[in-house]
Amino acid sequence: MKTAEELRTKLKSIDHRGYPAYKELKGQYDFRDYVLSIDHVQGDPFAAPSRLSVIVSGKKAGFPAAYYDTYEKRITLQDHLTRLFGAQLNRGSKQANGSGKSGLLAASRCGQEVMERTACRVESTFAGAALRQSRASASEPVRTQTIGRTVSGPGTVTLRFEAGFPARGRTIDAGELEKMLFDILPGCVRNSLYYTRIDQNKLQAAIELCEDQQAVRRKLPELGLCAFIANGSILPRQSGVSDRPMENAVPFQSPDSMKVTLTLPNRGQVSGMGIPKGVTLFVGGGYHGKSTVLQALQNAVYNHINGDGRELVIADESAWKLRSEDGRSVTGVDISPFIRQLPGGRDTRHFSTLDASGSTSQAANLMECMEGGSSLILIDEDTSATNFMIRDKLMQEVVSPAEEPIIPFIERVRSLYEDFGISSIIVAGSSGSYFHVADHIIQMKEYVPLDITRKAKAAAEAFPAFSTKQDRFPAFSQRRMPKPNMALKKDDRLKMKAMGVNELSLGYDAVELRYVEQLRDSEQTMALAYILKQLELKDMNGRRSMQELADLIEGQLDTGGLESLFEGGDVRASLARPRRQEILACVNRYRKLGM
Ligand code: ADP
Ligand code: MG
Repeated sequence: MKTAEELRTKLKSIDHRGYPAYKELKGQYDFRDYVLSIDHVQGDPFAAPSRLSVIVSGKKAGFPAAYYDTYEKRITLQDHLTRLFGAQLNRGSKQANGSGKSGLLAASRCGQEVMERTACRVESTFAGAALRQSRASASEPVRTQTIGRTVSGPGTVTLRFEAGFPARGRTIDAGELEKMLFDILPGCVRNSLYYTRIDQNKLQAAIELCEDQQAVRRKLPELGLCAFIANGSILPRQSGVSDRPMENAVPFQSPDSMKVTLTLPNRGQVSGMGIPKGVTLFVGGGYHGKSTVLQALQNAVYNHINGDGRELVIADESAWKLRSEDGRSVTGVDISPFIRQLPGGRDTRHFSTLDASGSTSQAANLMECMEGGSSLILIDEDTSATNFMIRDKLMQEVVSPAEEPIIPFIERVRSLYEDFGISSIIVAGSSGSYFHVADHIIQMKEYVPLDITRKAKAAAEAFPAFSTKQDRFPAFSQRRMPKPNMALKKDDRLKMKAMGVNELSLGYDAVELRYVEQLRDSEQTMALAYILKQLELKDMNGRRSMQELADLIEGQLDTGGLESLFEGGDVRASLARPRRQEILACVNRYRKLGM
């Protein structure tokens, strides 16, 4: 490895030369307290910034081993360090001047969720630290990867970030880069990646919160619950464009009948609403907070940071927001349990379309979510197709069942739970029909949940149950085995792009993810692009089922990390880990999917 002084000398020698001479800086440099690695140098001052990383040995970084001895704690530590380092870089950014992106310094921007990201990696030798709790029983052996690193060993911190190498016009301004790498960066590293230098209480609080969150997740199945919302939680967000907690919101308070008290390792006794497995209904007048509860639950598949308000809102990790999504493409899905036949005799056991309707899209979403192994479905009337949810009595009399191809969800919801163990939480403010099939009915009244199960059931007795026939779920097929797209096979250099959270592209094909609501971060979307490319070029072979493909990717990410998605080890700091559900959702919306 070269020394920092050699870097300084090299910098002096390329000053005032053409921008491409910056490429000569690629390599690793010993800064004594850490290693600076210049991984990729941008082509010109206006191009995407250069990619760098700093590597601090475990001994020097000094974080307690107990902070990274499980997967969840390791991810929490990594998340915390990314935020600290990012804040430091923000302060140092643009202090060096020049054209284009000169002087820019930036790390990944983290939102309210704690996610695994390529931005930061803490090495761990603990077997459990590689695997998520939910997969800890998986039988794959655990490998920890240390590819081409000169500093390694437990506790080693790698932080990846971006830097705009300074130029005047297109001429190298080495003095400004020297300022960035020798004056600004060392302070950023010292103030965020050294345990002795950071606010240890804040880090401890983050780790302790993670332990409590995992304790709740573990307890949910033991207690027969599919979700938990702690009393005092703040569910509403600041605004449609801000994910931060609303100020002066009404804190959540469980009805007594559903109150559950948990004993957590750090916070001790915490009470809140336990939503039992089965069918749960949220009703109430418009604007009383129903959708807000459901949105908190759909995001509760992630851990949230301290101060978010949803720290102890925890749901089944496989929860799937089921909604209508007209216009999406569907490939070879058996939707016959919900839609028997379509005009023109179209086959619904192998349904494909490039432009699904509201009800067919929602049916396909449900069948795909069963294929993906979800055990909790979340439905909001606001985003559902009415004819998928319900058919009223008058309509049944006028349009005979033989003419109506749709079997509404209400006729399947109990079988979904009783035969497949899939619970449903449904927001339905406008139809009382679901009273007949629900186990628990909660009314939201001025943001306060009230248990009205008894009252609603009594009232429902007086009304005959219609459209609630509960036949057993019919047999259906889940053997979808995507074939590779031959036109793409030749081209390894397929371009990938993420357009914010909502869309990605692979080559010329866009995948629309706007309605995949539990996808939260554009870095997850970018990871999906890498995953889709790998599946397309390597793993889809016409013999692996969708489940097997998802297992394959999850196994790879568990053992090799997100880093394994980069061939040749040129890891970028721009990926966050998506769930199995979103991986499958992405593949399912890929318009070139061939069966
Ligand atoms: P619904 O689905 O019942 O029509 P929403 O969940 O959309 O109602 O909520 C209506 C409005 O009330 C939203 O602007 C939301 O931010 C706000 N809100 C929701 N819950 C609370 C709360 N606990 N405290 C204060 N405002 C809230
Ligand atoms: Mg609503």
